[in-house]
Amino acid sequence: MSRELSLEKYRNIGIMAHIDAGKTTTTERILYYTGVSHKIGEVHYGTATMDWMEDEQERGITITSAATTCSWKEHRINIIDTPGHVDFTAEVERSLRVLDGAIAIFDAVSGVEAQSETVWRQADKYRVPRIAYVNKMDRAGADFERVMAMMVERLGAKPVAIQLPVGIEEQFTGVIDLVEDQMVIWDGDDKDAKFEVTPISDEYREAAAEAREHMMETLAELDESLLEDYLENGELTKDQIYAGLRKITLELKGCPVLCGSSFKNKGVQSLLDAVAHYLPSPADIGTVTGHNLDYSESVVRKVADDEPFSALVFKIASNQYGDLAYIRVYSGTLKSNEKVYNVAKERSERIGHFFQMHANKQTEVKEVRAGDIVAVTGFKNVVTGDTICDPAAPLLLERMDFPNPVIHVA
Ligand code: GDP
Repeated sequence: MSRELSLEKYRNIGIMAHIDAGKTTTTERILYYTGVSHKIGEVHYGTATMDWMEDEQERGITITSAATTCSWKEHRINIIDTPGHVDFTAEVERSLRVLDGAIAIFDAVSGVEAQSETVWRQADKYRVPRIAYVNKMDRAGADFERVMAMMVERLGAKPVAIQLPVGIEEQFTGVIDLVEDQMVIWDGDDKDAKFEVTPISDEYREAAAEAREHMMETLAELDESLLEDYLENGELTKDQIYAGLRKITLELKGCPVLCGSSFKNKGVQSLLDAVAHYLPSPADIGTVTGHNLDYSESVVRKVADDEPFSALVFKIASNQYGDLAYIRVYSGTLKSNEKVYNVAKERSERIGHFFQMHANKQTEVKEVRAGDIVAVTGFKNVVTGDTICDPAAPLLLERMDFPNPVIHVA
């Protein structure tokens, strides 16, 4: 059986934020828009409020699961719950390890706060590519530029604004998309509010041209091949900008920055587009490195279906189906009811069923492949941090004396 979706279309991401920056609200909106994306752009005045209430009650729309699968424009997005602890806990580190990219959310008024610094540095340590989202643009005192400056000063980051806010505070109505060179304006604050994509209005033309120029210059500074094209042609094509932004994100040289107001339902769809455009797929990660049982040799696996199976258990949770083990599959394939080897426990186990966890339901899948994140039933003896793998090709993905890092991405 071949893949239903190519590995390049997967995004395994986390959302990191200082408490109160809007992680919950943004996540809820992501689940809403990925669940009802067919409605976007249509207006449902009149019965709309009722529709949303019923929708939300039915969907129980907050993340209650360690990983939630949703889809956006042909991409499968697995959102891994990143605990917001300030401490360097094993749980935070492990969650950073199983994701390939992240959204860092900042509050447009308070900007980079102490806790955002801690998480940012943890993400640096695990080389997690990031895009940034400046939320709460509707609040009094919101300042997009100041947050960008704080990212430089406090985080040593290289922010690259790919949007400009249109209006501020109460008047925040949309964004200028600097890559597409157009305006996106919302008509109202509701979740299903219609939005218009138009050429940039006269009022914003100059500011947008300047910001666009600045974006291209920054890209050229961060990447030599782009610099050549930029110097030769005086600008970059849209394709070059997309590819350049993706490249500097993956190489951790720069961080595309967007803005919005999740609460007012503005900006989250663009954020999802940016996840698809700029954050890596498991294929970009390329290889995963573990060790043999006595740590005397390292074992390198390609992130591919035709490699021996390997996966890391990153969370154990219970629900109505019993104990669930959340796993990130790094290589190979595995069917439900097959046997796997737990290296740390030195024993084989027959697993039960695989489930993809969605905002409102779980769907059973019969087979998992490299890049997948699923919940598994049937394990008798696993703990978080265990590696499960093909008995014929054992490896350890995490040291048993965790938290020393073992997984390296190339
Ligand atoms: P978390 O602690 O990061 O998960 O933050 P929440 O999503 O719970 O948001 C914290 C508070 O900020 C809540 O009262 C939200 O309603 C509010 N909030 C979230 N996003 C926005 C926004 O875009 N604008 C405004 N004005 N408030 C927001």
